Amino acid sequence: MLSWDKTPALHPMRRCRAWVEIDLGALKHNVQQLARHLNAQSTLMAVVKADAYGHGAVTVAQVALSTGARWLGVATVPEGVELRESGIAAPILIMGAVNSLEEVDAIAHWNLQPTLVSPKQALVFSEALAQRFGTTLPVHLKIDTGMSRLGFPWQSAAEFVRFVQRLPGLQIKSIYSHLATADDPDPTILRQQHQRYEAAIAQVAQQFPALPKRHLANSAATLGYPDLHYDMVRVGLSLYGLYPAPHLESTVSLKPVMQVKARITHLKDIQPGTGVSYGHTFVAERPMRIAVVGIGYADGVPRALSNCISVLVNGQRVSQIGNITMDQMMIDVTDVPNLREGNEVTLLGREGENSLTANHWATLTKTISWEILCSFKHRLPRITIDSSTAPPFQTERVLKRSGDVGEKH
Ligand SMILES: *Cc1c(COP(=O)(O)O)cnc(C)c1O
Repeated sequence: MLSWDKTPALHPMRRCRAWVEIDLGALKHNVQQLARHLNAQSTLMAVVKADAYGHGAVTVAQVALSTGARWLGVATVPEGVELRESGIAAPILIMGAVNSLEEVDAIAHWNLQPTLVSPKQALVFSEALAQRFGTTLPVHLKIDTGMSRLGFPWQSAAEFVRFVQRLPGLQIKSIYSHLATADDPDPTILRQQHQRYEAAIAQVAQQFPALPKRHLANSAATLGYPDLHYDMVRVGLSLYGLYPAPHLESTVSLKPVMQVKARITHLKDIQPGTGVSYGHTFVAERPMRIAVVGIGYADGVPRALSNCISVLVNGQRVSQIGNITMDQMMIDVTDVPNLREGNEVTLLGREGENSLTANHWATLTKTISWEILCSFKHRLPRITIDSSTAPPFQTERVLKRSGDVGEKH
């Protein structure tokens, strides 16, 4: 959450060293594609926890809601409050654990909707509400069907629902669960969870003439299993244009929303035998031209990628060399003509035909693309662009980069 957004004087500095570019055109495209892919009775919840996976929660929420999403999902109460403070009125589900009375207060005050996972927690909510507000709070009951994270055991779902139903002040809006293996091409565990969820719902339906909303699918299940769309899907990663797994790439067309860029801050020629960066893990074997780039691991580029990645300079793919340092890294620009200090480098994103993906970084560092995206939410300024409209002041920059306006770099 950079306060720079409110400080125009600093704007010219935002692209100084390194920044994250958020393409709202790509975001709109993804929301539309996902909304079109949903079953007729299902609605789209945009999951914007962790500052929208590093993309900026308020902006993403506003664009997603104006493009077809109906609900917002966050992990924590402060994340929900941030959205409300920006004026967003859409229903907001807090998916994470909420236990303290302070949180109950904030939830009621800001009209947020908590997830309840146990009778004890429901009791705390009911009592706190009765004492403090005397109002009715919409709540969502979470059933554990095999994730073994938050949720009441699926076998006892009906008891849980009956308990909450009798408590004053709580109105059950939905009964949901979360899948552990939706991105695995093998559906065995997913189908087991699906059956457990169905069994729990069937129990509940016997007591509930009007069944609350049901939802089970994250991005992977939304893309891969239309029969799991139920009344709503909770979509995070695919909103941001990434596929949860390669086998899901044929389902809908998504465009990455985030690009990560930095500038060349220094150029130098080095002789054979010269070591580069801490530990000299790279030693030049020939005369080389190298560039220092103003981005490092404190900005979100994993240090484990040292000597493993390429970046794009003038549309050309070049190697990163030596250990990545906290704020800077070196790249081999021996074969790139006419470079100058100040030139842009793309670390994640597209230049012409070349693209660099968070999925690739995730594979190299033995993690998942979710974590790669989230690592850019701390330090770098965020610039929003819109490749679908390209306002005049940024036409040139946008046209240069955006594959879908037919311009070659
Ligand atoms: C984060 C989260 C999601 C979204 O998952 P993606 O795989 O990013 O789509 C959905 N449901 C719950 C409960 C979550 O915590």
